[in-house]
Amino acid sequence: MKFYVLTLFPEMIIDALSNSIVGRAMDKGQIELIPVNIRDYTLDKHKKVDDYPYGGGAGMVMQAQPIYDAYQHICEEAGHKVHCVYLTPQGRTFQQKIAHEYALMEDVCLLCGHYEGIDERVLEEIVDDYISIGDYVLTGGELGAMVLIDAISRLVPGVLHNDDSASTESFEQGLLEYPQYSRPETWNNRKVPAILLSGDHAKVDQWRHEKSLERTLERRPDLLESYELTEADKKYLKELDNCN
Ligand code: SAM
Repeated sequence: MKFYVLTLFPEMIIDALSNSIVGRAMDKGQIELIPVNIRDYTLDKHKKVDDYPYGGGAGMVMQAQPIYDAYQHICEEAGHKVHCVYLTPQGRTFQQKIAHEYALMEDVCLLCGHYEGIDERVLEEIVDDYISIGDYVLTGGELGAMVLIDAISRLVPGVLHNDDSASTESFEQGLLEYPQYSRPETWNNRKVPAILLSGDHAKVDQWRHEKSLERTLERRPDLLESYELTEADKKYLKELDNCN
């Protein structure tokens, strides 16, 4: 999968994503990261890419021309209109299910704003989707783009060593993941739950499922509203409720 990133800070994207699993996926050619510097496309002789907002008010606005030209260059290189996502606090909130939608695509272009944002006219011309990474305001879209690239990349087949590890993770089945433990068996007088050492896989699976339910109830009860509970799940949650 190819990620084009329209940004004023290409080095920020490369520096942050060249490590760990995403870095390895790039080395293996499973994903390709192509930051495109918007400033390289300005026709302004001082290399300016922003100007004052019409109507007055604080801050600067990124101008349409350099963004439009940079995007056209990307589409020409790709040979088709590349699906364009504008990272913005005004978009739909990013979720695991959106990461899955994007992991099926051949390529995507992530547009990062700065200052007060971007001239609306170019957004109307090129943007296919508006995505926010949460209800807060960042200084620029790069962190948002990195969040999307990381979350989407790990769903691209072959990027994780064991594709199974993605399927048991939080949100995949509609619940939060169960707690995880590793060596040693006792640390700081705290023991690993005995069931995990039993070797009984059916019992381990049941324990993990119950812990997922418990944790989701404690930390994200809203997720249970859209999760299809079995009769056994309902009984378990009722028992938990009675204990509290
Ligand atoms: N004036 C804009 C508003 O009130 O909606 C906020 C502009 S913000 C200071 C600058 C840039 O940061 C935005 O153009 C966007 O690309 C990025 N950004 C800020 N918050 C974001 C969020 N929650 N999710 C994704 N991108 C965000």
